[in-house]
Amino acid sequence: MTEGSTERNWAGNHTYRGTVHRPRTVAEAQALVAAATGTVHALGSRHSFSDVADAGTLVTLDALDVPVELDEAARTVRVGAGVRYGELAGWLHERGWALHNLASLPHISVAGAVATGTHGSGDRHRGLPDAVTCLDLVTADGELLPVRRDAELAGAVVGVGALGVVTALTLRVEPTYDVLQEVHTDLPWDAALTHLDDVLSSADSVSLFTDYASPTVAQVWRKSRVRPGWEPRRDLFGARPADGPRHPLAGVDPVSTTTQGAVAGPWHERWPHFRLEFTPSHGDELQSEYLVDRRDAPAAIEALRGIGHRIAPLLLVAEIRSVAADDLWLSPAHGRATVALHLTWRQRVPEVTAFLPELEEVLAPFTPRPHWGKLFTADVAGAPDALRAAYPRLDDFRALAARLDPEGRFHNDFLLRHGLVG
Ligand SMILES: Cc1cc2nc3c(=O)[nH]c(=O)nc-3n(C[C@H](O)[C@H](O)[C@H](O)COP(=O)(O)OP(=O)(O)OC[C@H]3O[C@@H](n4cnc5c(N)ncnc54)[C@H](O)[C@@H]3O)c2cc1C
Repeated sequence: MTEGSTERNWAGNHTYRGTVHRPRTVAEAQALVAAATGTVHALGSRHSFSDVADAGTLVTLDALDVPVELDEAARTVRVGAGVRYGELAGWLHERGWALHNLASLPHISVAGAVATGTHGSGDRHRGLPDAVTCLDLVTADGELLPVRRDAELAGAVVGVGALGVVTALTLRVEPTYDVLQEVHTDLPWDAALTHLDDVLSSADSVSLFTDYASPTVAQVWRKSRVRPGWEPRRDLFGARPADGPRHPLAGVDPVSTTTQGAVAGPWHERWPHFRLEFTPSHGDELQSEYLVDRRDAPAAIEALRGIGHRIAPLLLVAEIRSVAADDLWLSPAHGRATVALHLTWRQRVPEVTAFLPELEEVLAPFTPRPHWGKLFTADVAGAPDALRAAYPRLDDFRALAARLDPEGRFHNDFLLRHGLVG
């Protein structure tokens, strides 16, 4: 169950220094945690862009023998932590069930996505962690602790690996449904900013793709649950329907993207932007994302446009999405209707790293919450307390971590650097 220690993250910009272990049973995972000397951390599908998952002993759960269990009466599904959303989604759909939303990539693990507050898009869609009703958590002494939907779960769900190793999660499900996806191109910026609320609420899930330097928003992807009387939208505040399928990156073959053109299909083949069967072998990119209060979004977007000439040369594409407020302590949408400002960078680590403080300074007036799985600086625009200001339950989370892990066995550089533990 032990493997080499030269695994990298998906983007290849971080090599894990810890030794990777792959337990096959929950008991093995418990024994591993209990016996580990030094620090321990769970490792998911490695789609994060930093050292967030690193430690001396790394526990990856994709070989765990936890069966998927559907409870139709309770409308929940229980899954092993290493399962990927795309696999779970297909399994659920075949049985007539669905999740409320998905992220842009179906290849990410359920536990890793939940632990970092991963989200899709939609005014009425909370992030993926909101579906969790129970976590099975292996704590520092190797005990298995079920954490259910109460105050403690609200603290534990977006746990950034600080509280222990999750071996299984129970998620809320609903009857399966169909979704269709339309793409519009060239939304004038004036219209996008003046009507941002209307654009974001014009479908169940909306993504705006831009480089912040061009005169228009290049593409708007709108995903809608199929309902009687649904009509395609010709004009979208000046944007026009695309004349064929599009990839978010200009000029890239859209073969890997989910079906567009308002063709209805199962929810899990429309919410993500990318198809499960096109496994991205290696990401030639980096990502950052900052989530702001929806009321601040037009001003925050304007601020980014103001440095668009600095952003664009480093950028592959940027995406703007909405996320509904939730009550999870470290969720980037905690307590506020949110707009997520995502940036996919070219794989130029030194230049991107050097630019982030400038970007964060521009966003600082909007109390940005960085996505835990993406790149951001240690103090977010030079203010040591910026994360505490952005996350009102941060101290409660630190107290929870100190209680569950008094010896700091799940501490790592990332958690200490950002003051999530310590
Ligand atoms: C191409 C691409 C597209 C993306 N799209 C989106 C998107 O649409 N929306 C969005 O919000 N994010 C998106 N992300 C970010 C991604 O969802 C997060 O980085 C997420 O953490 C990835 O999950 P993972 O399993 O790879 O986690 P890892 O990177 O392996 O780990 C991340 C964190 O989760 C913890 N963790 C993992 N497994 C467990 C466990 N079993 N128990 C306890 N803690 C655990 C780790 O300890 C670590 O702290 C994207 C990333 C990529 C590469």
